[in-house]
Amino acid sequence: MTISHLASSIIESPTLRLNEEARLLRERGEAVIHLGIGEPKNRAPVTAILSSAAKLSSGDVKYTPTDGTPSLKKAILRYTEENYDKVVAPENVVVSSGAKLSLYFVMFSILNPQDEVIILAPYWVSYPQIVKMVYGVPVIVTPEDGSFQPRLEEVERALSSYTKAIIVNSPNNPSGVVYPEEFIAALVELCEKKNIYLIMDDIYHKLVFDGKRAVPAYRYARKDIDQSNIIVINGVSKLYGMTGFRIGWVVASRKLAEILNNVQAQTESCTSVVLQAAAEGALNGMQSIVENLRLTIENNRNVTMQELHSFTDVRVTKPDGTFYCLPDFRAYSANSTELAEFLLRKALVVTVPGVEFGMEGHLRLSFSGTVKDILQGVERIKWALDPNSPNEIYIGDRKLVRDWL
Ligand code: PLP
Repeated sequence: MTISHLASSIIESPTLRLNEEARLLRERGEAVIHLGIGEPKNRAPVTAILSSAAKLSSGDVKYTPTDGTPSLKKAILRYTEENYDKVVAPENVVVSSGAKLSLYFVMFSILNPQDEVIILAPYWVSYPQIVKMVYGVPVIVTPEDGSFQPRLEEVERALSSYTKAIIVNSPNNPSGVVYPEEFIAALVELCEKKNIYLIMDDIYHKLVFDGKRAVPAYRYARKDIDQSNIIVINGVSKLYGMTGFRIGWVVASRKLAEILNNVQAQTESCTSVVLQAAAEGALNGMQSIVENLRLTIENNRNVTMQELHSFTDVRVTKPDGTFYCLPDFRAYSANSTELAEFLLRKALVVTVPGVEFGMEGHLRLSFSGTVKDILQGVERIKWALDPNSPNEIYIGDRKLVRDWL
């Protein structure tokens, strides 16, 4: 059996692998705490459930137009106007099965082999892999000052005649950083001047805390949407807690949307009509759901920060958004993969190694779960690593004694 070089070079998704490991441990009755997954605990909005259930029970479950049902696209146009202050046409929108697939179709549609895409570290694990999957070259820009925010000069230095696009995710998975408004404005200007795409992955754009805001790139665009090189990617997974519904979308120029439509027509055909109905229900329903989730997550962020600050040698940047933070554990181990494995084995806590996000020595912790999970999870990590913490702990009804420090 032979496998293509390209396919063999694509790494396993570390988060999905860890989910599976945690699931297997739980199946064996182990009291695993999952601080690895980026998935809110809330139930799907009732309007999403009713809308998809109505579609399903009608029995009229058929193909839809490739780029999405007219009614979902209408809801997306309204969403774009309300949240981005931007009026776009149905021809600017393409709905796919999740933002991840939207991103893949975008990359497939804009890159020629060897074209480069600038990715800002720390970055979401899938960006470099998706770029590679369409024979592109990921170019990682790592902030030299050790922060989570690259400077414009660093981005400019990474440009070459092959640069096709820059991907921006703000608020950022995995650091929770919201890039400053001036940085976004400067990137828009840079991309317009150099005629390269600015891909805004806005999947967390309303999960922002402390009264801050992730500014829409459109605000600084000088070009009309159909001439624009700004591509916005969005979806219902994170803001509505609808990860399993798999609905994402792209807003782009008509020309690019037309190409995306062709690519999708020859692959996905269209996104499931039942799930599109769910997304429509969520977008047309009570938007207080998003605000309630945001408040819950902000409280979880505060609890996580408080717990991590009691850790002697962990440095952490307070996240402005998302449900992740990326504390620096280098005082305990320089190898984040080994550290994450150690924590899973000894303390039954799932974390994600920072190396997967381009930040070795860090661990990504998700605070999308319950406060109880956060408190117990950090307590267990402290027990496993910090000699100043008590050397006995209860995990489930088992008393464990630390004998390695
Ligand atoms: N973009 C980022 C930055 C993410 O963290 C994720 C999911 O973890 C996605 C996109 C994918 O979203 P979806 O579930 O819509 O595919």
